Amino acid sequence: MVLTCPHCGERFETLADPSAGDAEYVEDCFVCCRPITVRLHVGGDGRLDGFDADRDD
Ligand SMILES: [Zn+2]
Repeated sequence: MVLTCPHCGERFETLADPSAGDAEYVEDCFVCCRPITVRLHVGGDGRLDGFDADRDD
């Protein structure tokens, strides 16, 4: 999936694993290295339904 960094606005490719259901984790931006809070939304069929990328501050 492609994340858009909420700090610097850059987009970069990242891996998501929807197999465990909804998840929330922190990933550092590849470009500015600031932390991004990622929330995965997984549908009932185990597929990734969507995601949010937010800054934590
Ligand atoms: Zn960034």
